[in-house]
Amino acid sequence: MSTSATLQPEGLPFWLDLHRPGYPSLDYDLSVDIVVIGAGISGLKLARCLSRYGLDVIVIEAGCVGDGASSRNQGCITYNVGSYGEFAKTHSRETARELWRLGMESHRCITEQIQEYEIECDYQVNGVFTFLRPDTPGWQDQLESFRTDCRLLREDGFDAKVLDAEEIQERSGSPFPVSAFAHLEAAQFHSGKFVTGLARGISNQDKVRIFENSRAQRIQRSGDTVKVQTAGGVITAERVFLATNALVPQFVPGLEYGLRAERGQVFVTEPLPERPCQGCCGGPLAWWREVVEADGRFRLLFGGGRGRDEPDSLFPQFTKDGDPHPLLDKEGFSPSAEHQHRLETQFAIFFPHLSGVRITHRWGGLQSFTCDDLPMIGEFDSSRRVHGIAGLSGKGNCFADVGAEYLAGRAAGVESDIEVRYGPLMEKMLRPGRDEANWDSWETTH
Ligand SMILES: Cc1cc2nc3c(=O)[nH]c(=O)nc-3n(C[C@H](O)[C@H](O)[C@H](O)COP(=O)(O)OP(=O)(O)OC[C@H]3O[C@@H](n4cnc5c(N)ncnc54)[C@H](O)[C@@H]3O)c2cc1C
Repeated sequence: MSTSATLQPEGLPFWLDLHRPGYPSLDYDLSVDIVVIGAGISGLKLARCLSRYGLDVIVIEAGCVGDGASSRNQGCITYNVGSYGEFAKTHSRETARELWRLGMESHRCITEQIQEYEIECDYQVNGVFTFLRPDTPGWQDQLESFRTDCRLLREDGFDAKVLDAEEIQERSGSPFPVSAFAHLEAAQFHSGKFVTGLARGISNQDKVRIFENSRAQRIQRSGDTVKVQTAGGVITAERVFLATNALVPQFVPGLEYGLRAERGQVFVTEPLPERPCQGCCGGPLAWWREVVEADGRFRLLFGGGRGRDEPDSLFPQFTKDGDPHPLLDKEGFSPSAEHQHRLETQFAIFFPHLSGVRITHRWGGLQSFTCDDLPMIGEFDSSRRVHGIAGLSGKGNCFADVGAEYLAGRAAGVESDIEVRYGPLMEKMLRPGRDEANWDSWETTH
């Protein structure tokens, strides 16, 4: 191992190594228009949009704001959903174009929130670079596909560029990649500062209350209302919005085959003498970005180290008795020695010149992936009036905002701008329970 490890046993993400404002826990019964379960970006954005329609909203969070994937990620804002050309072939050029535009809408919403709530979250448009590595067999074919994607995107009026070896090596700070697909309008931010800033901004609004350490235990229909039970009290609401990410099947088992719980792992270096790269880079088995420090120095955040079906990264939802699987909560958010070692092996390939740097933070993050890599946004269970956003498939910053705008409008009985422009697309491509989202060989019990 080239790096010197100080594994933090609790796996504190670098993004959460800051002062976080606290919120009370729920210790009484109450009635409200809407209850949102989960205070990550999806839940908070839902609360923001719902309250703008005048609805009273309660957000309940099992731990603290941002404890989930929202503060455990790479923090890049991109709307790349795989190969544009392939997507256009499988669906249609029009669908590919609309989906890209939908991602742009989400990016616009994020910048709007940053401005409105004055969130200082180191937002920067530094680009996202999908690179090719020379040790991947057939990387030249992939380069051809990048060129096609780039041509099609540009024809459709979007920004895209293919970088040669010299360009990507300069951007990525690594001598290893041989080429890259560049999305130069993509951005990045400090995920922890963003999600905590969003919560602060939303909680200042009259219509929203946030409760921490208030885990939802049960959702039950009761006449014309829905009751959500927590250890401290029961909330009676007209509707429930689930924003619990990989844990959605715990409440809606019918979605379990389409929402695969996968753990990613990450580490962050100590501050480095020189800026390590510029922008978010990602490719097979490795991704990274720079993180700016208050004193102007930079760290390197590095993740990856797993193939898509890596067994030690997949988590079952239920025990054979049908109970929530304890591994999900216990290990889903922790770093493991084996995976961290794989990360270090990749790090040594890409950053041989950083051999020996100290790693200060290591963590794991659980998220949910659908088989078609597109989220589920809509009605999860009509009988209990449960709606939600899940299966963001590594692209929460691309879809959570438009999902929240769309669902909030529907809850309020108002046709939102997003629904007018993208309703048919969302109904067709992002519908919860669609067959295309289901994994064939995914063991949900263990
Ligand atoms: C390693 C990694 C890298 C990623 N990189 C990127 C990236 O660069 N760009 C990008 O767009 N996306 C990325 N993602 C994905 C992105 O982080 C997620 O899509 C997004 O954060 C999901 O937000 P969420 O609010 O839906 O879920 P979470 O942030 O996971 O929030 C769910 C919340 O629900 C709470 N909860 C769960 N059960 C209950 C309950 N019973 N009662 C109350 N609360 C409950 C949890 O405690 C949690 O706070 C990455 C994810 C990971 C793990």
